[in-house]
Amino acid sequence: MLNKAIFIDRDGTLIEDRGYICDFSQVNIFPFSFEAVKVINENGFKVIVITNQSSIARGICTEHQVKKLHNKMEELFRSKRAIINAFYYCPFYEHGVIEKYKKRDECRKPLPGMILKAAKDLNIDLSESFMIGDNMKDVIAGCKADCKTILVKTGNWSKTKKDLKLSKIKPDFISDNVLKASMKVIELLKY
Ligand SMILES: [Mg+2]
Repeated sequence: MLNKAIFIDRDGTLIEDRGYICDFSQVNIFPFSFEAVKVINENGFKVIVITNQSSIARGICTEHQVKKLHNKMEELFRSKRAIINAFYYCPFYEHGVIEKYKKRDECRKPLPGMILKAAKDLNIDLSESFMIGDNMKDVIAGCKADCKTILVKTGNWSKTKKDLKLSKIKPDFISDNVLKASMKVIELLKY
């Protein structure tokens, strides 16, 4: 039996996009994100965070810091009975400054590498799964991985709106935020 998942972008979707952040003290989780994760948990989907972290290749944060931040985020969500099943981050960036991470890699959204890896690791049926994000890169990655996609308005919406207009690839739905997007997924299950 395969699992279903909702893949969720981190910055601008689950938490406020404040640029490159390395420490949990800089994280501002949107208040509706806890409920969103709970709704997804209750409806039998795995919750998997999918995040580009070029901050690592750029030498701004270390991989250790990013992992630590994700552990603390997971703990805080869990303390509110909202379970994040996994975090996948992409540390690579072709124009980075740290040699180890300075390369083009298929994990970096808009490429679907992280979603494909998660699907393999966690036995996920991608055709029954969704990608929710605030950036067209999320939509394109989700689409390339054969997921349904929902674009949310909680990132830099004025920029994203322009990117959306120019893109041939379109999201299946647009929602105000990750909670409304999650409720949309649940509504679709009824049909
Ligand atoms: Mg984002």
